[in-house]
Amino acid sequence: TFKAVVIEKAEGGQRAALTTFDEADLMEGDVTVRVTHSTLNYKDGLALTGQAPVVRRFPMIPGIDFAGVVEQSSHPDWKPGDAVVLNGWGTGETHLGAYAEKARVKGDWLVPLPASLTPQQAMAIGTAGYTAMLSVLALERHGLSPASGPAVVTGAAGGVGSVAIALLAKAGWHVIASTGRAAEAEYLRGLGAAEIIGREELAKPAKPLAKERWAAGIDAVGATTLANVLSMTRYGGAVAACGLAGGMDLPTSVAPFILRGIALYGIDSVMAPQALRREAWSRLARDLDHAALAAMTTTIGLDAVIDQGPEILAGRTRGRVVVAIS
Ligand code: NAP
Repeated sequence: TFKAVVIEKAEGGQRAALTTFDEADLMEGDVTVRVTHSTLNYKDGLALTGQAPVVRRFPMIPGIDFAGVVEQSSHPDWKPGDAVVLNGWGTGETHLGAYAEKARVKGDWLVPLPASLTPQQAMAIGTAGYTAMLSVLALERHGLSPASGPAVVTGAAGGVGSVAIALLAKAGWHVIASTGRAAEAEYLRGLGAAEIIGREELAKPAKPLAKERWAAGIDAVGATTLANVLSMTRYGGAVAACGLAGGMDLPTSVAPFILRGIALYGIDSVMAPQALRREAWSRLARDLDHAALAAMTTTIGLDAVIDQGPEILAGRTRGRVVVAIS
């Protein structure tokens, strides 16, 4: 047996507890990993609390991402001792996940831990940071660069937002950070934000078109916030939509698309193909400032993760939370 956070069905919903889990009950997979680190992402908060139906199987070990060391493998790409990273693929949703000392997964889901990152750093990045990188890649593919104009990041003090700011600032962008937490202004400037705007500036119902303020956007909030980001994007610009911390809806119009020729890119980290994952991880290893990463990271143990679920959903965690496991 090994230590794990396990979610069981219970009266009125579900119950999560730190307990032990039998290795024989792990699901099918050709690689067994000793998990050393995981993280807390927004989706983990949804799974831990049951606030949205993220968990599709019971019992479930939550946790959508991990770093660890291969213990056993019948997959040609992996051998015992290999350092690996996993993001998504239904881990912690349909497949037993990361908040445990062991995981058994498909070798096809794994990427190698980049040589310049420790497992702790890889999980400080985590799915939130890898998603921020996927967003940056989408903006770059659109042809945007710091010369195009400023970039806005919403949900700035959260996990995706913090990594997005650090990546964009390091690449030379003028970063406008939108936050609901004015007290985090200094933190955001430390990550590289050049300007801070209040969340409420993007919270009023969006006009079809508004004054052009930025050439690029990375949006972790959705809903009215994303609608405003779109209506304020410069002619020919682009926005990467990766989150829904403010809601699932999108009360916008076609005006930004047909009158300003802007593009809206959808970002999915869960089923992203291997080539794109590897590109994102190698860019993270190359481009993300390690001091900025350390500044946005706090670390907790497996025993504290359940209590952190409601905190991240309430928007009270700052930056990234690493879960140190073994
Ligand atoms: P997080 O750390 O909780 O960050 C979300 C941030 O959004 C909060 O810190 C807060 O930032 C802001 N926020 C929270 N509630 C809000 C509200 N009601 N209205 C406006 N802003 C609000 O979560 P995360 O792990 O970075 O994830 C961010 C979002 O990206 C989540 O929706 C998550 O599901 C999504 N995501 C998607 C993918 C994908 O594959 N597409 C991958 C990872 C994450 P401020 O306090 O600075 O305002």
